Amino acid sequence: MKRRSSFPCVLAVALAAFAVPAHGQGFDLRSLFNSSPATPGSNAPAAAAANQPPAASAAAEWSGESGASNHPLMTAEAIRAAAANFRQCLAGLWPLAERRGVSRAMFEANVAGLVPDLRIMDLLDGQPEFTKSFWDYLDVLVSEERIQTGRAILAQHRASFDAVEKAYGVDRHVIAAIWGVESNYGTAIGERSVIRSTATLACIGRRQDFFREEFLSALEILARGDVRADHLKGSWAGAFGPTQFMPTSFKRYAVDFDRDGRRDVVDSVPDLIASTANNLKKDGWVPGQTWGYEVVLPKNFDFMFAGRAMQIRDWERLGVRRAAMASEASGQRGNSMVRAPDTRPEPGSSARANGKNFPRSSDNASLVIPTGAVGPTFLMLPNFGVIMKYNPAEAYALAIGHLADRLRGGEPFVQAWPRHERMLTRAERYELQELLARHGFDVGEPDGRLGSRTRDALRAFQSSVGMLPDGFASAAVLDRLRARN
Ligand code: CA
Repeated sequence: MKRRSSFPCVLAVALAAFAVPAHGQGFDLRSLFNSSPATPGSNAPAAAAANQPPAASAAAEWSGESGASNHPLMTAEAIRAAAANFRQCLAGLWPLAERRGVSRAMFEANVAGLVPDLRIMDLLDGQPEFTKSFWDYLDVLVSEERIQTGRAILAQHRASFDAVEKAYGVDRHVIAAIWGVESNYGTAIGERSVIRSTATLACIGRRQDFFREEFLSALEILARGDVRADHLKGSWAGAFGPTQFMPTSFKRYAVDFDRDGRRDVVDSVPDLIASTANNLKKDGWVPGQTWGYEVVLPKNFDFMFAGRAMQIRDWERLGVRRAAMASEASGQRGNSMVRAPDTRPEPGSSARANGKNFPRSSDNASLVIPTGAVGPTFLMLPNFGVIMKYNPAEAYALAIGHLADRLRGGEPFVQAWPRHERMLTRAERYELQELLARHGFDVGEPDGRLGSRTRDALRAFQSSVGMLPDGFASAAVLDRLRARN
């Protein structure tokens, strides 16, 4: 969801914020936890059949209901009207396609008989109530199976990874981790036609300007013959291929690394990993440096430092230590997770595995405390921000970084997540923000997402009532806020 996202998700946050439409690389968390986006149409309830407008007959899965955004283009009436106008809308895009070198024949071939996929309107405005915790998220994305498969893929395509790493300076493990997280190494790419999805979104709903560009870019990809037409499939938002490029991202970043004349990020491993590396490189990847690392905070740490960025030496002066070193020094490892049977780093990566890519003490790092005083804590380096540009959710970026470390032979986190904590629902997150605002703590406009501003406000509140100001939106904090009324 490159740089297009309207959701600055933050850790404990709103994994629910993933539910906000993917405007980018298309990764959709819901596909991990429920079936709807990943298996389009397969278990869609036969809901609202009576409400189906004639224009939507080919998209029987649509709920027929207005979207939750309350956007005027997302009312059921507006969706039906736009669906009825779908053919005229597409016809109106022809002059724009022609200017991009799309032939009339190709345009016709792609839009003739195309019917809108109105189920996407439900997904565009989907607002699930449940928020997945960090640990649920990482359990799924950094599973033992995903680690083993990733290592096998790194070995299988070692020559390509060698060449790509040399050409772009981006850590191969991060590329493999993106491949693993975005599509489970290409096994969960999505089955929707990118042309149909982007055409639907270009003509119907609240993001037509954005998706018009995606639709035209998808046509350009076909016109150039970069990707096989029947392989241009993906998420409901139009992201395709093992690393889920949006059509416009493809235009910016895709490269023909195997030099066969086509930039095929779907079926060519050299092209897909080089294109992903090129994407990260152009977004500012710092070669030879990691994304960040787990740290242990000293006793009596002042949590008001959370979220701040400063030099690593300053963090060390405050007593912040690398977790792996701290646990070795004390002879304990507090994690009960099963270790990989073989954690040897692969050849060529021993320097990284040994921590030689660790930053200098003058490097800047920001302290991220996803789940408060209990749970893993991190110092994040600039490459973490680069991963966030690929998909702007801290939980996502942390999963990528951690999976990359595990693929390299690294260990699980030393500190255990607070698995006893319950994540607040969307309604509770709203309530938390409204209560904070009522008590004079600045949270901006309540939006149900717990971003850095809300966490700052939460810390200030916690501090004011003598709680440990760790910024974690626990059920206990919400109770405390309610009790103040
Ligand atoms: Ca190629």
